[in-house]
Amino acid sequence: MKTSLIALAAALLFAAPAVAADKSGDGWPAFRDLYKELVETNTQHSDGSCTLATERMAARLKAAGYSDADLHLYAPADAPKDGLLVATLQGTDTKANGILLIAHIDVVEAKRSDWQRDPYSLIEEDGYFYGRGTTDDKAQAAIFVDTLIRYKQEGYKPKKSIKVALTCGEETEGVFNGARYLSTERKDWIDADFAINEGASGELDAQGKRVAMNIEAAQKVYQDFTLTATNKGGHSSRPRPDNAIYAMADALKKVQAYSFPVMLNDANRAYFTRTAKLRGGEIGAAMTAIVANPNDAAAAATLSQDASLNATLRTTCVATLINGGHAPNALPGTVTTNVNCRIFPGVPVETVQAALVAAINDPAIKVETDGHRSPATPTPKMPPEILGPIEKVSAEIYGPVPVIPVMTLGATDSIHTSAAGIPSYGFRGMFVDPDGGNAHGLNERIQVQSVVDGRRLFYKLIKIYAGGK
Ligand SMILES: [Zn+2]
Repeated sequence: MKTSLIALAAALLFAAPAVAADKSGDGWPAFRDLYKELVETNTQHSDGSCTLATERMAARLKAAGYSDADLHLYAPADAPKDGLLVATLQGTDTKANGILLIAHIDVVEAKRSDWQRDPYSLIEEDGYFYGRGTTDDKAQAAIFVDTLIRYKQEGYKPKKSIKVALTCGEETEGVFNGARYLSTERKDWIDADFAINEGASGELDAQGKRVAMNIEAAQKVYQDFTLTATNKGGHSSRPRPDNAIYAMADALKKVQAYSFPVMLNDANRAYFTRTAKLRGGEIGAAMTAIVANPNDAAAAATLSQDASLNATLRTTCVATLINGGHAPNALPGTVTTNVNCRIFPGVPVETVQAALVAAINDPAIKVETDGHRSPATPTPKMPPEILGPIEKVSAEIYGPVPVIPVMTLGATDSIHTSAAGIPSYGFRGMFVDPDGGNAHGLNERIQVQSVVDGRRLFYKLIKIYAGGK
């Protein structure tokens, strides 16, 4: 993930003990070899190659019986190392739409000299896999490819086609993004009833106990606005009441005081409903109250005191950068401020812009987007046919750990697939340490047991979604 994902189900009181590792059977050595190859293929943007990684995964799929017609490899001419792969296990029902499993295989840059171990060697130590991409997002990518291989080898005939997309460009701004390309140019390769992507994970507490299995039902939308105050300026020895810095200060105080309306969708409604029982107390009661009545101002005020819960309730906008004036002895001519908004899914950017203009209520302050406008995403749904199988399989693998739909505050490639009309759910199906396995950071890691369990989970889950036998 690009931005830090704040799992909203933090600090739940429920916890279940971890089960003992079972790596025997089910072709674990073959999986481990595939995962090792993927992690050890450097895919950082500066000197790595996603294309090489996709070719290696395609070779494994071919060896397992997939034909050239089942495999789409693509790399843009001007970015030959930013390749992607879409592999399909054809469904028997030719009229049915498929299921998309999408994972990015590019990684954040890792500098060998900063790491304790070689970031591009898969190292197993003390119950952990270490290496760049071990958690973000090559465990899931490897599980998807391995599952497709196992299904082919055992002769499984799904009713719905199962499409696995491995893409590049998720971690680096301004480069070729495979998920965006597929969503806009090759939707025929990936079209599906829904997609499963990275996103929410299972949460472990500091003692390693399982707290909750989260599923991302919605993402807030990232949008920056630039506020500009201008003034004819002048000499600071002759100040006037009109002043660009003061005008901006007044505007920002109004932005600070403004609260966007409370909104509920399938994601935060389910989150509040399920978390209310676990949290209890004043917060739990407020969660129950807000679901019953989104206009309950007292409940909203209680929840809004917590930054994460406030962000779950509504669109938020906050000043993040300011720049103004040009000399210590001059009246400022221009002041600009970046206001970063995290928009509630389904709300158009224009609506948020209009709300900021109205709150500031000063025609001298310009409110503009910075040229980049986030795509409008449809209001997400969390229907039982998506959630039910996850609850069932999670219970089989993990026991009585609550499954909690969440709305994440960061962004993944799901913005592209959902903008293309494929409802996209962020579900890693694996438990990660409270620090997220230090994804993007040094010494990235994931528990071996998490990968073992995640692999078992997806093998069962995708069969339920795809049907057939
Ligand atoms: Zn990621």
